[in-house]
Amino acid sequence: MADDTHADRIRKLVEPLRVAPGQKVNLASKDWDPGATADFVAKEDAASMLTEGVTALVDYQARLAAQDTWSVLVILQAMDAAGKDGTISHVMSGVNPQGVEVTSFKVPSALEQDHDYLWRAALRLPARGMIGIFNRSYYEELLVVRVHPEILAGERMPAAAKGPDVWKRRFREINDWERYLTDNGTKIVKLFLHVSKDEQRKRFLDRIEQPNANWKFSAADARERKYWDDYQNAYADLLENTSTDDAPWHVIPADRKWFMRVASSSVILDALMDINPQYPVPSAAAKAEMDQAKTELLAGG
Ligand code: ATP
Ligand code: MG
Repeated sequence: MADDTHADRIRKLVEPLRVAPGQKVNLASKDWDPGATADFVAKEDAASMLTEGVTALVDYQARLAAQDTWSVLVILQAMDAAGKDGTISHVMSGVNPQGVEVTSFKVPSALEQDHDYLWRAALRLPARGMIGIFNRSYYEELLVVRVHPEILAGERMPAAAKGPDVWKRRFREINDWERYLTDNGTKIVKLFLHVSKDEQRKRFLDRIEQPNANWKFSAADARERKYWDDYQNAYADLLENTSTDDAPWHVIPADRKWFMRVASSSVILDALMDINPQYPVPSAAAKAEMDQAKTELLAGG
């Protein structure tokens, strides 16, 4: 469990990363610098902070499962090579695998295209007591689909659902849905790992130069850099319109991996601190049963 100093440091780290509802976001401005860190977190301390974070997360996850009332849904969005996969493996390392489910959302299948765009996400929502991680999500419907109008044109919805107000409509639908989920016990935490265009270039080059990373390289991802500004604009609009009190967005500076990991871990811990799940206290009857069982067990029965 996070002690008071640890908890204070987490809150202090997370607060400036959170997008206030309706806040204007210009991702190109210094306010949203992908290379930013926090002056009270030194790089040398990052590893021990992350270990401390993992220990706290293990404890919170156990209590979340025992309480069996809330679930936590972590949504990760980012440009390619920002570090979604590495963040998941570092931040969640050590947590009981039975308590966590990761879903990676790809180009929708034929079956998925036969349903509304939230359907496949609904199927993968975490059950009470579980932590669900969405590696990409329904937010792709406001990103890749917006940047490439031909994808929207190919979606098999009624024409009215693709009209000029489609993005405004989707902001509303997503906000409504997230509100409904929150009201019913799903705590939603949203992270945008914000990498710079130059850092992405370096990471793509690394993938090409290091044989063991070649498998991660995709020429299509590199070509998608042509649309960089369109993506940044789509992200800014999404952050301005879908960061709510119930389900806030956090912009995580992603150029320095050590900071990205500590910050991401802190955002998830902050959400668990809000829930503050507790082990259930046995009822008087259950307690009496336990006392009885203990007596029998001690007597060798
Ligand atoms: P990696 O880091 O391993 O490349 P990834 O998340 O990029 O992970 P990919 O299989 O390369 O995984 O890419 C998934 C692709 O699916 C992305 O290009 C994403 O934009 C696309 N995608 C996800 N959801 C949708 C959607 N609803 N409509 C269209 N494309 C989507
Ligand atoms: Mg990819």
